[in-house]
Amino acid sequence: MLNFKMSELIHSNKAIEHNINNMPDINSLDNMLDLIFYCLQPVRDKIGKPFDISSGYRNTQVNKLVGGKTNSQHLKGAAVDFKIRGMTVTAAINAIKNTGIEYDQLINEYDRWVHISFVKGKNRKQNLKY
Ligand SMILES: [Zn+2]
Repeated sequence: MLNFKMSELIHSNKAIEHNINNMPDINSLDNMLDLIFYCLQPVRDKIGKPFDISSGYRNTQVNKLVGGKTNSQHLKGAAVDFKIRGMTVTAAINAIKNTGIEYDQLINEYDRWVHISFVKGKNRKQNLKY
């Protein structure tokens, strides 16, 4: 069973606020499916707690408005920001590492949320903290 919807990864408060159509292109949709199927859902299944997603896909305009990096993996639908309900960011990061599930980058962003990305066949398994 899937706990995630594509719409959750497309939704952006910033896009709505600025009346921007944040619909992903076809390649980003493929990346988002890979991210959900091979990374996000398997992690969710192992941890067994709800994820609150704050940002998934972002087009160039939305990414600029939220202060994202120009090479952000969110632009390709390959990254998602979230919190795991009832867990600190550090605890969530440790729990994700312990699942052994493959990812490209796992980032503790300012102790405010978890950023995870997935690039099929090219995962670097990098752990970073901003
Ligand atoms: Zn992010």
